[in-house]
Amino acid sequence: MESSGPQPVDLLVTDAFVVSMDAERRVWPNGAVAVRGNRIVAVGSAREVGEAMVARRTISARGALVHPGFIECHNHTTLHTVRGAFGDTISWDDVVSEFYVPYWNTVTDEEEYAGALLACLEMIRNGTTCFMEAGTAFEPETVARAAAAVGIRALVGDPFLWDVGGFTAESPTVARAPYDTARALRLLGGQLWRNADDEALVRGHIAIVGMASASDELEVAAKQAADAAHVSLNQHQSYCDVDAADDDARLGEHPLRHLQEIGVLGPNAMFAHMNIIRDDEVDPILESGMAISWNAPASMMWGVGGATHGRHAELYRAGVTVGLGSDSSNWANAFDIGRAATLAILAARDGRRDRSILTAEDGLTMATVNGARAVGLADRIGSLAPGMRADFVIRTDDLPEAHPRTDPIAAILYATGSKSVDTVVIDGRVVLEGGRPVLVDAETVYRGVDAAAQAVLDRMGYRTPRRWPHIS
Ligand SMILES: [Zn+2]
Repeated sequence: MESSGPQPVDLLVTDAFVVSMDAERRVWPNGAVAVRGNRIVAVGSAREVGEAMVARRTISARGALVHPGFIECHNHTTLHTVRGAFGDTISWDDVVSEFYVPYWNTVTDEEEYAGALLACLEMIRNGTTCFMEAGTAFEPETVARAAAAVGIRALVGDPFLWDVGGFTAESPTVARAPYDTARALRLLGGQLWRNADDEALVRGHIAIVGMASASDELEVAAKQAADAAHVSLNQHQSYCDVDAADDDARLGEHPLRHLQEIGVLGPNAMFAHMNIIRDDEVDPILESGMAISWNAPASMMWGVGGATHGRHAELYRAGVTVGLGSDSSNWANAFDIGRAATLAILAARDGRRDRSILTAEDGLTMATVNGARAVGLADRIGSLAPGMRADFVIRTDDLPEAHPRTDPIAAILYATGSKSVDTVVIDGRVVLEGGRPVLVDAETVYRGVDAAAQAVLDRMGYRTPRRWPHIS
């Protein structure tokens, strides 16, 4: 720091309980964060940072928590268009053949955009500052456009790359995305151009659908493309007994062993779910340094046993980069990574009858630094330190659940949840203030997605099941 008086900064957040998530996990109960442009320039005690900086804008956190924004490692951003449409007891085969395939064969890019816009708004409202799209937007630009409109950091993937019809028993046809190796190889890496601008808010990664839907040729090509571009390879893997059995039969061995043998695992391989992990699949995970997106609410909603009986907690404790994801809003219902952390912790404890297996601090680690590592951006997001991108959440203590202030860190996962998210800063810009979005009008977003849902469900002739009589 120069000695010529206070340094100018664009934003100073002061009177904050700063949870930095830096390498030493330092916490400043009377702290401050200073931002210049899109970078953090200082984190420390409110007095020292305040004396060293003169700010264009100052926000008082009034004693509440400031922490790095949550990282969403795996979601289907555009499926928000039909959240809740098919009820919560539909079967595996029916959800694909009777809902998703007809849906995918009629939904338009603008209808997907309406869902993506809602998803992005929902994420910032819940304290998420970066998400990785899972590779199922027909036109990835719809997701990029929605992210830019709301001001959230995003990684967008390739559109529906699959070439093996093992996804379900019937191998249904999605007109815009047939099982086709040539098509998949042609589209692979189509979002990487975004990374030419190192400051871009929306970046690209490699995504294939995975989960018993990829040939070895596609798997290997995807890994090579990810390696060459220094980005993550995201795919689904071992969600439930159905796709794990498909993989076992097709590959003649357990899938993680096979993927290790053909060279697909590695530190930049980030697989979603991983609920069904057999004994001989643990070593490939540990040895490869691969990352996992643990989508606990999605597993719990579907009842696959992954959250309670999966090995995520043990793998996390063994040093595996386990981050958190929401998957689809038809599984997890909400894109809320704090809630995902809470449910993951509680499920792990309950399934093992062991309340020390995961703590609130572990939840925050998975939601921030591990998420950043899992999506390949640990050098720029996930912790609050000079030089990092300014992506953080300012909480409010103006809630009954925030008091008394005995353990403010545990409180945000165990008590207040996302209700305490007040202000969100992404890339140095305030995108949520007082719980309201700054760059988009929430009512307009709601009206747009309500209309899109109605239109697409009408074209499908689909009626959401009702268990109780609805009287008109
Ligand atoms: Zn998914």
